[in-house]
Amino acid sequence: MGQYKKLFKFRKLLMFLWVILLPITFNWMSPVLIIMGGFEGYISMSFVIFTIWFISSLFFGRAFCAYGCQWGAAQEVFGDVIPKKLDPAKKQKRRKIKYIVFILWIIFVALGPILNLGYQYGFNPYYPTPEDPTGIISWNEFEIGLLIFYLGILGSVVILFTIVGGKRSFCNYACPMGVLGVLGTKIKNALKYPSLHLEADVEKCTDCKQCLKACEMGLDVNELVQSGNMYDPNCILCGSCVSTCRQDVIKYVWKWKK
Ligand code: SF4
Ligand code: SF4
Ligand code: SF4
Repeated sequence: MGQYKKLFKFRKLLMFLWVILLPITFNWMSPVLIIMGGFEGYISMSFVIFTIWFISSLFFGRAFCAYGCQWGAAQEVFGDVIPKKLDPAKKQKRRKIKYIVFILWIIFVALGPILNLGYQYGFNPYYPTPEDPTGIISWNEFEIGLLIFYLGILGSVVILFTIVGGKRSFCNYACPMGVLGVLGTKIKNALKYPSLHLEADVEKCTDCKQCLKACEMGLDVNELVQSGNMYDPNCILCGSCVSTCRQDVIKYVWKWKK
């Protein structure tokens, strides 16, 4: 259990780092820029990163959401500051919204290259800025002002989502990139090759519900434990439940079958 406590601390630190790095990396994981790039004939950095995320989900499920996403990090950090509990049944219904968003998103992602018959200008790691990935190095004061304004709006949206819907509510209800991870997880579970899972030893569970309180995605972890099946498409394999459980009921496993 000690190693999971360390992992928990490491992940929380990582979340802070992602938030601090957001002004530099925000162009690299943008569901909007991947579409804009496609219409202008560019493969953007977001395209590359989302492709890597999808491939990683074929082995590590949605772990990229827990360790590698700046937007998830921002929601989690604000969610820790502004705690809000929502009825799990209401949450479960709202979680379906992201699949509709995903279908619309993927249509627009595909539309650009279909209309342009491909990405005629190839990969541009700096897209949409001409010279550097952030723009910060080459931008003038006015452009940096615009960047601060833009980040202010993004920050407000994250805070608003958190106030209205609770921690990681954008992840839960609206994020199309998260659905890429759901698809990857479903594929790996269907094909049953070695991959990362959660496993629970229900016999050891004392029903204390601490795992439920700790879940970053607001899942009813206790119910998952009792059902004997820890798979949930909304689980991001963050490990908070693993490190919280004093009885060592839940653990990470790398195995052939779900
Ligand atoms: S669901 Fe979306 S915003 Fe949330 S962590 Fe995953 S990719 Fe990032
Ligand atoms: S924290 Fe552990 S013991 Fe408590 S309900 Fe969850 S799985 Fe069971
Ligand atoms: S069930 Fe556990 S691993 Fe999955 S999101 Fe919740 S706390 Fe994280």
